[in-house]
Amino acid sequence: MLRFLILTLVLLFSINHIETSAEPLELDTPKNTIHEWKEIENHVEKIHVDTHYIEYRRNFIKETRPCKIYHHIRTIVYYCEIHGHTKVETVLEKIEHSEDHS
Ligand SMILES: [Zn+2]
Ligand SMILES: [Zn+2]
Repeated sequence: MLRFLILTLVLLFSINHIETSAEPLELDTPKNTIHEWKEIENHVEKIHVDTHYIEYRRNFIKETRPCKIYHHIRTIVYYCEIHGHTKVETVLEKIEHSEDHS
């Protein structure tokens, strides 16, 4: 569980990093800072981030089976024709477990 939390934090950090690095540079931007963002890409990726093990009982014997955790991440890319730059937005849409458990 701890490993999963760390992975999530790392992922969130990298998402933030992507957003900051995509910010337009002050030097390149003229006084007119109004952008004309047009969506040029929009897709969802399913990323396997971790596997954990679930305990269950079969014939009174404790057993474990693996459950894979996936993150559904949507990436939206915008392009501004005025300044010729792009910005990227990433959204964690859903966390999926391959096994049905609570
Ligand atoms: Zn712009
Ligand atoms: Zn699970």
